[in-house]
Amino acid sequence: MDPSEFSEPMPCYESSPALAPADDDGMCVHCRMFLTIECPYIDHFLGEDDE
Ligand SMILES: [Zn+2]
Repeated sequence: MDPSEFSEPMPCYESSPALAPADDDGMCVHCRMFLTIECPYIDHFLGEDDE
């Protein structure tokens, strides 16, 4: 995964109440939908290998 690809807040971002404010940077990896089917970017995080 290219980290720069996720250097901006993601459109799908939803603040997770479990996050410390310091971690709440708006990135998908920190959103409450991360790695759930609710996240439209789940394909970015999964299955990059079989391209
Ligand atoms: Zn997301």
